[in-house]
Amino acid sequence: MKITIIGGGPAALFFAILMKKSDPSHDIRILERDGPNDTFGWGIVFSDKTLKFLDEHDHETFVAMTEASQAWDPLVVGHPGQTISVGGNPISGIARLAFLNILHRRCHDLGVDLRFHTLVTNVADHLDCDLLVGADGANSLVRRTFEGFFLPSIDVRQNKYIWLGTEQPFHGLTILFRQTAAGLFISHSYKFNPTHSTFIVECPPETWLKAGLDRLSDDETCAYLAEVFRRDLGGRPLLSNNFVRWLNFPLVKNKRWYHRNVVLLGDALHTAHFSIGSGTKLALEDAIALASAFRQHASVPEALPAFEAARKPVVEKFQAAALQSLTWLENVQSYLHLDPVPFTYRLMTRSRRVGFSRIRRADPAFAARYDAWRKSQPQAGPVPSDFLDLFQKKTFGHLATLMPDGTPHVTSVWVDYDGRYLIVNSARGRVKDRNMEQRRHVAIQIPDPDDPDRYLAIRGLVVEVTETGADAHLDRLARRYLDKDTYPPSMRFPGEVRCLYKIEPRHVTTWNPFG
Ligand SMILES: Cc1cc2nc3c(=O)[nH]c(=O)nc-3n(C[C@H](O)[C@H](O)[C@H](O)COP(=O)(O)OP(=O)(O)OC[C@H]3O[C@@H](n4cnc5c(N)ncnc54)[C@H](O)[C@@H]3O)c2cc1C
Repeated sequence: MKITIIGGGPAALFFAILMKKSDPSHDIRILERDGPNDTFGWGIVFSDKTLKFLDEHDHETFVAMTEASQAWDPLVVGHPGQTISVGGNPISGIARLAFLNILHRRCHDLGVDLRFHTLVTNVADHLDCDLLVGADGANSLVRRTFEGFFLPSIDVRQNKYIWLGTEQPFHGLTILFRQTAAGLFISHSYKFNPTHSTFIVECPPETWLKAGLDRLSDDETCAYLAEVFRRDLGGRPLLSNNFVRWLNFPLVKNKRWYHRNVVLLGDALHTAHFSIGSGTKLALEDAIALASAFRQHASVPEALPAFEAARKPVVEKFQAAALQSLTWLENVQSYLHLDPVPFTYRLMTRSRRVGFSRIRRADPAFAARYDAWRKSQPQAGPVPSDFLDLFQKKTFGHLATLMPDGTPHVTSVWVDYDGRYLIVNSARGRVKDRNMEQRRHVAIQIPDPDDPDRYLAIRGLVVEVTETGADAHLDRLARRYLDKDTYPPSMRFPGEVRCLYKIEPRHVTTWNPFG
């Protein structure tokens, strides 16, 4: 097969390696804009799982990589009040350039035609091949050329970020939160070789403008940020290579992944926020998935749909987790009031891929600290205080009542809580009204609308049914649920008589795997 790949990043190089390994007669050409030793950024990180995956698919790359990387285990969270280290998160860091050079060597050894300093300006000039791969990064020309077919969406996120380096060693994935007069700065750092660590800084746009970072030169930017993180950096400077540039993270997705014999790979196809450190992992996994589609299907028209069908659901899941992570960081100001322990726990569970049991396995001592904090929280009546937010959102409860023959009846209801009773507002004559008047035992499950995994479940007794105050209460609920000052008369049945049902909780359970 004659394969042309535009872009020579991790996705392109690894795909070329795998294709050459499966059939050395493939004629593979990679066209890369930059030289072999130019790269943006500093170091990248991989989990143990990604390394194992690499080992399974190309042992030579795996061996060279592990020799060139730095392994560490803790996640370090620099809350303004206290720095907390949580063990059991094995990660390896490697210089991006060292990693690319390993892949370059493998490509050379396997006979891939790797052409550096070759900027592609017109994709149409390169269509004379069996397969054209667009692996030209987040700003892909291939994607833009065929955007009417790929149907991309690019969600440019609010925080500004910049990718710097330092000689200060950070022996763990370290996330620091530092308040300044201009506002909040967040850093993501880790050691990737014996002498250097990556140091990515992000901040909200308001902080960026207030700090005057839009007007500072490269050197001034590094000096300003080194001052913000002076204690963490031990007074060492921040370093730039050819990437002193503030960016907004582009969240790239494509509705369709291929068009005729053209397919996208890696960042050209999808991006994942750097806070979950998975962009390169996804690029490598794409390469593995596309190469394996070609092992199973000899022809391009069969292999490309098979690649998309197998890979898209996995990528979508990852992008959803990365979105949770970046959104959490965009809104972190509203969590910084938390004590360092619950703050660290929230940070670790922000992408919903890690829950309490995983944390307990990784670091039992930290899990015990979190558990102790949770148990020490004041209770607001029978409902735990950390679940009271459910009564401030547009939360629907699933209320189970009993029919005359003893069978259950379930219905969705708006829910309220007065510190003692759970309150449901309904109308006379409805099935639940008749059931609750006559059979007082009920159960209700109340899931968090923002996270259905998190819920409150109550079994209790209806201790009071009253029409007094029901209309005023309904108006209060209308403010929360409908964003209206009063409950619209048009939503009521003619002659409707509202009622309050006060449920005394007898048995309360909560579930929050990520909180
Ligand atoms: C701040 C930051 C931190 C990150 N940290 C991590 C991390 O810790 N771990 C991790 O796994 N990932 C990380 N990533 C993501 C990672 O860098 C990318 O996801 C990964 O490099 C994607 O690989 P790729 O091959 O798809 O694209 P790229 O690495 O972007 O490669 C695309 C290549 O195409 C070339 N190119 C572009 N246009 C043309 C053209 N017209 N003609 C010829 N060549 C062209 C470019 O020069 C480039 O070499 C980070 C990203 C950022 C921005």
